[in-house]
Amino acid sequence: MTPGPKSPQRWIRPGIQALSAYHVPDPGKLVKLDAMENPYRWPPELVEQWLDRLRSVELNRYPDPGACDLSENLKQFMQVPEGMQVVLGNGSDELIQMLALAVAGSDRVILSPDPTFVMYRMIAEVAGLRYQAVPLNGDFSLDPDAMLSAIEQTQPAIVFLAYPNNPTGNLFDAVVVEDVIRAAPGLVVVDEAYAPFTDASFMSRLGEFSNLLVLRTVSKMGLAGLRLGLLAGPAEWLGEIDKTRLPYNINVLTQASALFALQHVATLEEQAQQIRSDRAKLAQALQGLDGIRPYPSEANFILFETPHGDADRVFSALKEQGVLIKNLTSSGGRLQDCLRVTVGKPVENQAFLEALQNALKS
Ligand SMILES: *Cc1c(COP(=O)(O)O)cnc(C)c1O
Repeated sequence: MTPGPKSPQRWIRPGIQALSAYHVPDPGKLVKLDAMENPYRWPPELVEQWLDRLRSVELNRYPDPGACDLSENLKQFMQVPEGMQVVLGNGSDELIQMLALAVAGSDRVILSPDPTFVMYRMIAEVAGLRYQAVPLNGDFSLDPDAMLSAIEQTQPAIVFLAYPNNPTGNLFDAVVVEDVIRAAPGLVVVDEAYAPFTDASFMSRLGEFSNLLVLRTVSKMGLAGLRLGLLAGPAEWLGEIDKTRLPYNINVLTQASALFALQHVATLEEQAQQIRSDRAKLAQALQGLDGIRPYPSEANFILFETPHGDADRVFSALKEQGVLIKNLTSSGGRLQDCLRVTVGKPVENQAFLEALQNALKS
């Protein structure tokens, strides 16, 4: 059937029509352990000081287009090496989109291991690029031979490596990452969204490789609502990427709030430490449950395998008991039978563990 003259089917790119929109479930009153958020808010006196700061923000004016003050503070806090440049985004998702737009073309390839963060694929598809997924090993480590031969064959414009990886939680072998950076003909973006929860990072390696960029976000460290990400790397690349940025992408409230947060960063760092130590407790508790197999995690979530064929039932049983986590079984492959839980407050982790025990009994 030919589409009508003024129909969306006539005009919307086929690649877009073929997509399904990114679905975020409504948590309602559920204990929310599905989205890698920091569960802690600021102490009341800090909230008061923050609100005082916001009183002086001029909502009638456009933001500082380069967010210079904030950029400088973020560079210092995230230990961006001297001489490297940064571009800020409305969340690191926007920076992934800017990267894709900067290299887009129907013959261009974005390559990532699989499974990984789903936005790499979604953004590649929206921007009209090809997407190449390279299966990880059974233990979710990088398969060096598969990566190097896929890079050789597809000559990707960008390789994305989430480090630690989402949804698996592990760090890739740094030596293999280096081999990938050396072999890649284009950019390699090491996405360090979970930097607050691990000691590993490629930030200090910027400049050592001409094609390495590092991506960070403030989302997982406790400021997901602000939408703020940072891309760091050599000026030759970032100057080009920056041309795809809309002029005022970091709004005045985000600029003021993030600056305030960086002046009180000890609070966020204490929260991250708490989450790291609760992650160990949660992993140990999961390890002790019959039929549950948790994977090692350097992030603020834990991926775990349920008894074969049981993931949907366990997920629903948790939800019925008021706990929302992430069901990954429909992704298939190595994620079949897998669920992912975000590390919450101790009481939330306890509620999750009790609900899981009940689910496994029934
Ligand atoms: C959550 C996540 C992001 C998204 O971060 P935002 O800054 O909130 O857009 C990016 N990369 C990975 C690997 C993530 O898990």
